[in-house]
Amino acid sequence: MAKIIVLMGAPGAGKGTQARLLQERQGLPQISTGDIFRAMKDAQTPLAEEVRAIMNSGKLVPDEVTIRVVEERTSRDDCKHGYILDGFPRTTVQAAMLENLAVEQGKKILSIVVDVPFEVLEKRMTGRRSCPICGEIYNIYFKPPKNDNVCDLHPDAQLIHRSDDTVEKAKVRLETYAQQTRPLLDYYQKTNRLHRVDGTREPEAIYPDVERVVKSDE
Ligand code: AMP
Repeated sequence: MAKIIVLMGAPGAGKGTQARLLQERQGLPQISTGDIFRAMKDAQTPLAEEVRAIMNSGKLVPDEVTIRVVEERTSRDDCKHGYILDGFPRTTVQAAMLENLAVEQGKKILSIVVDVPFEVLEKRMTGRRSCPICGEIYNIYFKPPKNDNVCDLHPDAQLIHRSDDTVEKAKVRLETYAQQTRPLLDYYQKTNRLHRVDGTREPEAIYPDVERVVKSDE
């Protein structure tokens, strides 16, 4: 049965990096609701305006909007043989919706949490920078680029500091996660679908653990 791989973890835990590696190496599409909303917020529509304001505050986009986006994206052809969800579900309502979607699509849900202590997360978030061309992720504390603020592979491109990666916003996002999303770990645990990987290591050291879970009971 095709799988829906739910990558979970606090903001800054590195779930996006693992999702990208899985996409590259397993050929499954990575669906990041955060990326979809970031692309959407530049449009000149009332919805885009609303999404922009919510994202800038570090809070969550309403469930109805998020659910619609996920339904639309996962109904496309490339998702037929399974897909990776990065940043969804984040609330119990979204988790319930995903159960229905999985039944409709004939897929099974498998959840992986990238575990990182809260103290490490704050530095990871506020230090994060990314290349606007290739999406490569750097960190000014843990993985600085060779030259200040430019991508190693695209020296003409200034790295981007996400507007919600500032210290105050990082705090709100971590609190939002603790209140609304962390309870979902219990939910997947109780239904025997939760797999934990130690996220304090380098991405390449974490990846084999993630891949092992994805390939288990195939
Ligand atoms: P991320 O890149 O996953 O950290 O997401 C960035 C922002 O997009 C979040 O702080 C939320 O405002 C919004 N967002 C992303 N995914 C969701 C979701 N599943 N539900 C609600 N809001 C979301």
